[in-house]
Amino acid sequence: MSNKKLTIAIDGFSSCGKSTVAKELARKLGYVYVDTGAMYRAVTLYCMRHGLISDDGAVDEAGLKKVIANISITFTHNELTATNTTWLNGEQVEDEIRRIEVSNKVSYVSRIDFVRSQMVKLQQDMGKQGGIVMDGRDIGTVVFPNADLKIFMTASPEVRAQRRFDELTAKGEKVTFDEILENVNQRDYLDQHREVSPLRQADDAHVVDNSHMTREEQFAVILKLVEEAEKK
Ligand code: C5P
Repeated sequence: MSNKKLTIAIDGFSSCGKSTVAKELARKLGYVYVDTGAMYRAVTLYCMRHGLISDDGAVDEAGLKKVIANISITFTHNELTATNTTWLNGEQVEDEIRRIEVSNKVSYVSRIDFVRSQMVKLQQDMGKQGGIVMDGRDIGTVVFPNADLKIFMTASPEVRAQRRFDELTAKGEKVTFDEILENVNQRDYLDQHREVSPLRQADDAHVVDNSHMTREEQFAVILKLVEEAEKK
């Protein structure tokens, strides 16, 4: 690996393992990792706690607009355990933002234009120095359109739902496979069809479909792409 500090954008559908790869890559390269989905999840949790979103996903946009500047989202990284923690206004919310209740509402919050512009600004600031791996939906298209390497990850909805189901049940959450599959399909649809920065593959992104790849195989493919990008 060279000393060049790249900006690496990893986009793709929900639950296709973006964050696992992005984290592993950042660790290997000594880069900063930013999980942008966690930022939209944290704003969603804030809305849920402050009565700014109804059960069916209707957001009180005027109310949210008034307080958005007061929502602080930060990350800490533990080198020893290689884990990242998300903080919302100084409170640790890492587990809470992964819950199905938040997953079911996040796409209604992430489609709001002023929420996106606020998050994109924060993300661009975090990546100013390079040496960053950022995962999300619009990193290669909007946040860092000039990223040195863009990867678009995908896998079949069933494979993704199974992975998310295994993850949540391992944490003791009571969920069914069908409920997760429905959430995956619904988020795919909403994320691809929203008006502002819909999920789409950047023209210059490398597509990695990991439906039939092991984690190791996938990592090897991605490392090769990094090495090629370093030579450019
Ligand atoms: O990556 P994760 O599944 O945690 O993202 C949660 C949600 O946040 C997505 O379904 C999407 O609605 C939103 N998101 C987004 N743009 C990003 C990252 C996530 O709209 N860059």
